[in-house]
Order: sequence, then structure tokens, then C-alpha cells
Amino acid sequence: MLYFQKERKWAMEKIKEREPSAELKILRLLNPRMNLQDYQHYLNLEKGFAGELQLDIWLEGLTNDCLVVNDLLLEHKGKAFQIDSFVVFQSIIYVFDSKYHEGDFYLDTNKWKTLAGKEINSPQPQMERAESLLRQLLQQRLNIDIPIESLLVFTHPEFYLYNAPPTLPAIFYNQLHRFMKKMNSMASKLNRSHESLAEQLIAQHLNKFPHTRLPEYDYEQLKKGVVCGKCTSFMVEGGRVWVCGECGYKENAQTAIIRSVEEFQLLFPDRKITSATIREWCAVNGDRKKITRTLSNYFKRMGKGPASYYID
Ligand SMILES: [Zn+2]
Repeated sequence: MLYFQKERKWAMEKIKEREPSAELKILRLLNPRMNLQDYQHYLNLEKGFAGELQLDIWLEGLTNDCLVVNDLLLEHKGKAFQIDSFVVFQSIIYVFDSKYHEGDFYLDTNKWKTLAGKEINSPQPQMERAESLLRQLLQQRLNIDIPIESLLVFTHPEFYLYNAPPTLPAIFYNQLHRFMKKMNSMASKLNRSHESLAEQLIAQHLNKFPHTRLPEYDYEQLKKGVVCGKCTSFMVEGGRVWVCGECGYKENAQTAIIRSVEEFQLLFPDRKITSATIREWCAVNGDRKKITRTLSNYFKRMGKGPASYYID
């Protein structure tokens, strides 16, 4: 995840890739297998992640000497905050807060509203809170003092905000190109201290959001079977290949089973992988040997007989 080239090139270097949050990963696995209580929350997370991917695509356009760090979860003085992307240039750090709102909104003094007048959460205070905590963290804990500028980045082409003042710290869809040009034409030459800054921030990254709310789930209640990797419908076993009943996607039986075992591990990190459990988890009919053979090919078998289980 983290790497530095020995000799830095004069170009944008991405040093931390984006991944879906642990919460989103779990909800993606649960969604086909149970009715999520708060389905809307899951959709919001998916939408947020889609927006972050759009931000990444935009940042691919960087050609200047800079470092891009994605998806940081930090904590300062007991307060957690998230940073979608930050870009380190020689004498400024840009912090980008991805926004993927769609449709028309308007600003009523500081309140954000839909055209129907319904108030939505203003994204600005949250961004400003993150910026303030980041600045304190850099100054107080890491002793770094480079100016920080935070901006909301609206990447959905069908978003419009009425009444937006020019002072709003935002980059709108039709400004993305020009802002990129601006970043690429700044004088910037990084040195080891900039790399060290990024390294130190990444070292502070928390892997788990402290207050993630996951739905309650247990093994018995989840629908069993192999879920299609393309469309999340259930697949049908057909000898050496599994076929998706919905989109027709075909997958080698072993690959499909191993993928399902990985899903099982993520959902139930404390449960042992046994051939009986995986056979049930994947809803495999008939010969148990198929599962045993597949598991033996990819995992290390511990113990013998019915009590045996598999580890990575
Ligand atoms: Zn499918």
C-alpha cells in the first residue's frame, strides 16, 4: 500500500490507494444475503465511494511534482476525521473532500436546501472541522507547517448549486479542468521532507472508524450460496463452472468457492473454515470432496478427519 521510489521522478506519485471502507465492504457482502435494516445508509456509502473514485480519476490528471495520498482516517485529541484525498505540493497542501450530490440545490445563507426546500447537511462544516484537526495534527504532533487549503470537489456532472458565492471553498464540475491546469502549472519541486510528511500522516492512519455502525448479523440468518461477483445475484452450480442466474456470468468452480470463502472470512473472522461449513456457506450439493479438494489447494489444512480446518 505504501511505497516510495528510491529516486523520485518529477511527476505525480500516488502513495496510498483508495479502498472501500470496512463498513462498505461488509455491507456489500451482507446486502445479497439479508435485508439490510438501513438500506439507504448502504446506498449512501456506495454513492460516496463512487464519488471518491471520480475524484481519483480527476487526480490522474496531475503531472506536476506532487504526492497524492488517498483515504486517510486520522484522529487528533480523540476526534476522528476523514480525508478523501490530499495532495502535497512544494508549498501548499490541498485537501479534497469528494462530493457526489446529484440534482439542483440552493444556498439559503449557510443552509443547503433542495429545490423543494428540504434542508440537507451542509458539507462545509465537516470539511472545516477536518481541516482544523489536520492542521493541529501537523503542527502539534508532527511539527509541520505548510499551508493547507481544503476544497469541496463536486464531481457529479448533473449537480448544480444556486446562490453559491465565489468565496465558497468548492470546485464545481465545470471548474475541474481549470483547477487541474492551475495545479499543474504551479512551481513545485518536492524533497525528502515532503515524503516524510506523507509517510508520517499515513503512519497515523487508523484502519477502522471508531464509531462504525454495522447491522447485527449472524451466520444462521444469512442466505447461503455463491454470490455473483458481477451483479450480486446468486449463482447456480454446474459442475466445473458456476453460472449467474441473472447476468449469465460464468466462473470457474474453484475460483467461485475460494472467493466465497474470502467473503466468509471477512464476515466471520472468528469462525473456523471447515469443509462442512464452506459446503453449507456455498450451498454446494452432493460430493463433499469437491470442497475438500478446493480448500486443500488454496489453504493449509490443520488436523485430520472431521475436526480438520483450514487456515491461510
Ligand atoms: Zn451476475
